[in-house]
Amino acid sequence: MASTASSLQTIAGITELRATLSAARAAGRRIAFVPTMGALHEGHLTLIDTARAAGDLVVMSIFVNPLQFAPGEDYQRYPRVLAEDTLLAEQRGVDVLFTPSREEIYGQTPVVTVHPGNIGKEWEGTARPQHFEGVLTVVAKLFNIVEPAVAVFGQKDLQQVAVVKAMVRDLDFPLEVLVVPIVREADGLAMSSRNRFLAGKERELATMLSKALFKLRGTFAGGERRASALEAVGWRMLERLPGLTPRYLAAVSPATFQRVNIVQPGDAAIGAIRVGDTRLIDNIIF
Ligand code: AMP
Repeated sequence: MASTASSLQTIAGITELRATLSAARAAGRRIAFVPTMGALHEGHLTLIDTARAAGDLVVMSIFVNPLQFAPGEDYQRYPRVLAEDTLLAEQRGVDVLFTPSREEIYGQTPVVTVHPGNIGKEWEGTARPQHFEGVLTVVAKLFNIVEPAVAVFGQKDLQQVAVVKAMVRDLDFPLEVLVVPIVREADGLAMSSRNRFLAGKERELATMLSKALFKLRGTFAGGERRASALEAVGWRMLERLPGLTPRYLAAVSPATFQRVNIVQPGDAAIGAIRVGDTRLIDNIIF
């Protein structure tokens, strides 16, 4: 990958970022934005590639958003490796890295937040009741700070994609949302910053989620269309594995996140498991 190393600018303040980006916009540059929480891996870097193709100034944010973590979740232990991330972002062609502090984004605890509605209620929303409200609130703030023409998200967090697309549509954000397919390890495990927490046997068990989802897709390709039958095929692979707790496995519409009874091409299978102290999610599109 070609390096544009010397051009990366790291900015931590909102005022300075706005000034830099207004100047770029005035010069006719199209801003493509990649929001992340850092601990970058190849999945994040692929979002940068898409952003570079879609715009001519790539802004990446790295901000571990406290609002989307519930008390007792992994906010404190979430990996923070800014020096490493800066190097990777630079090498992959990010122009501006926005690295605000918690105080810069939440000088005061927000009184007004963005509610995800029904799409955010089930699945991840059940397990993590404030999660999508926290996600949408920070994404809305970042959109208003960066004012991108294009924002790039990963299919890895498919329910997040659905709530973000709904927010952009319903609140009239003037930008286009692009979605990048899931980048996986050679053994199928979806890349995730949380994979760093998996040690030895846990790392092996974690691959069972993608294996179950691939099996479901294979069964669909073989002609099975009943969601309950497809879910049962995957569920059998996840139950009774010591050290792994399946949380959900379901066929849903990717726009509404409502469960479907009969699966059509374009629908999604979503799954979540817990391995040790780590919660992992994954999905496939039929
Ligand atoms: P995160 O830093 O986990 O909040 O993720 C930032 C963005 O990267 C989100 O849009 C994620 O969906 C996306 N992402 C994370 N993992 C992957 C992956 N394995 N493949 C593609 N995109 C990903």
